[in-house]
Amino acid sequence: MAQGGASPETLTPRRWLQRLAAQQRRLIGLSVGAGLAVGLATIVQMALLAGWISALLVHGVAPQELLWWGLALVLVLALRAGAQWAQEVTGLEASLRIRQAARAELVTHIEALGPVRLGGLHSAAIGGQLVEQVEALDGYFARFLPQLRLAVAIPAIIAALVVWLDWLAALFLLLAAPMIPVFMALVGIGAERLNRRQFAAVSRLAGHFLDRVRGITTLQLFNRAEQASDEVHAAADHYRRLSMRTLRLAFLSSAVLEFFAAVAIAVLAIYIGFGLLGYINYGPSPQLTLFSGLLILLLAPEFFQPLRTLSQHYHDRAAALGAADALVNLLNTPLPEAGSVNRVGETPAAVSLQQAGVSFLGRGRVLGPLDLEIAPGECVALVGPSGAGKSTLLQLIAGFVDSDSGEVTRAAGEIAWMDQRPLLIHGSLADNLRLAAPAASDDEIQLALQRAGLGELLSALPAGIDTALGERGVGLSGGQAQRLALARVFLSRAQLLLLDEPTASLDEETEAFVVEALQALTEEGRTLVVATHHPALMAMADRVIRLEQGRRVDEVGS
Ligand code: ADP
Ligand code: MG
Repeated sequence: MAQGGASPETLTPRRWLQRLAAQQRRLIGLSVGAGLAVGLATIVQMALLAGWISALLVHGVAPQELLWWGLALVLVLALRAGAQWAQEVTGLEASLRIRQAARAELVTHIEALGPVRLGGLHSAAIGGQLVEQVEALDGYFARFLPQLRLAVAIPAIIAALVVWLDWLAALFLLLAAPMIPVFMALVGIGAERLNRRQFAAVSRLAGHFLDRVRGITTLQLFNRAEQASDEVHAAADHYRRLSMRTLRLAFLSSAVLEFFAAVAIAVLAIYIGFGLLGYINYGPSPQLTLFSGLLILLLAPEFFQPLRTLSQHYHDRAAALGAADALVNLLNTPLPEAGSVNRVGETPAAVSLQQAGVSFLGRGRVLGPLDLEIAPGECVALVGPSGAGKSTLLQLIAGFVDSDSGEVTRAAGEIAWMDQRPLLIHGSLADNLRLAAPAASDDEIQLALQRAGLGELLSALPAGIDTALGERGVGLSGGQAQRLALARVFLSRAQLLLLDEPTASLDEETEAFVVEALQALTEEGRTLVVATHHPALMAMADRVIRLEQGRRVDEVGS
């Protein structure tokens, strides 16, 4: 990544989470509103309960006369359940939409980065980021963010009510309340750091494991399977210990909270008990009645409940920040600067390079400065010893790497890429071909396979183009996989075909077939740029360009 420059605004995890939340402000607001309704219903419910008991015991009202009171209580309970349901559903929906948006943003960025810039990242880590780390944002948006607002609003409403009932009792509540956020913040700082480490560990674990699984044949051959399994075990154990440490911290913080809430409620109970007995003659306590005392006692746990719920969801915040940290890192990987060096369009040629070059970090310049014009419909062969820069030149034309000087212009339209190791995905034969042309019909797919010389194979397969292929093309020989890549090229409408040693490591028969097929493609009027050592391909080309140490050393027309 030679250049790209610092983007004007580097994203921080917090800012990214804020931006995501802002997209669903309405749904999150609805969730908060429903949560408030739950809180208010709870207060009304407790008031009804206290009023009922007080009417029954103090005022001696007959139970039959209190029937409507009971009905009101049932109604409030139903309302509360409904509001709770609405709070959950809106929170989950907001979180779902936000996660979809986050994934779309990440996929777009990954796509724009292209294969070469992503080369430094492990595919298991990228997979983990798109699935698990985005999933780790769920609790933050669905539960923590709405609860953060409720944890302020509901205790404030209850405190106001208790001040009106008996200000001394309210004082006890308000003294205990600040302890909770203080401890949460103290514990939260540690939890966030632990979570970040945990995400790093799980990424590493995933990469480690995938590497071992991919290399299992090699490991078996060298009798190292046992050792590898021990290593996986050790890595997993490290992850387990980190997870336990995070959990320990979470449990500790909730224990501290429970303690403060319990102490505050106990103090209140003592105060109200003695106040009702008439032992306290200070302030408002002589005015305490069974109704007000009971209501205060019933509301005291509800005062702490939103804060306790918030602290339960506090690890959601830590998890989300930990995940966002890694995701923002990916988002901050600079994209190629659009329009400055690599341009698409505005050229009568298919490809035009002027004094273009490529440098790699810590490796210096490996290609150029180079001039090259390729006309539409031309077939150009790139030759030269290994390490001369053929693959790099193809990557530069494709836009996978950036030029650090001059100009690279490519005619608008799709490009097709083919190299020695075709990418095969887990799916049917048709799925693998539709990578190149998502809208292709079954007939078009069959035709492309026949043109690529896979007609015989196809007729031998019972499920035809719906036959499932394993990952890495299980069930296909190397030659067949390369023919499949060729079928993709036939299927795609791309006018510019970039081929990196397409015939290397093929048997003679397949090799000859591929050469013939490429000949057919040039006759269709498509532009071909082929890096090759193959004499037949060189002979077929309109021009042969020789590279040595990143420079053109001569040009042979034919
Ligand atoms: P060829 O395809 O002709 O064999 P390449 O284009 O693959 O050559 O490589 C040209 C030079 O660039 C080589 O010296 C190689 O080591 C270097 N190179 C290629 N890719 C990278 C990279 N991602 N980072 C650093 N150096 C690279
Ligand atoms: Mg190469």
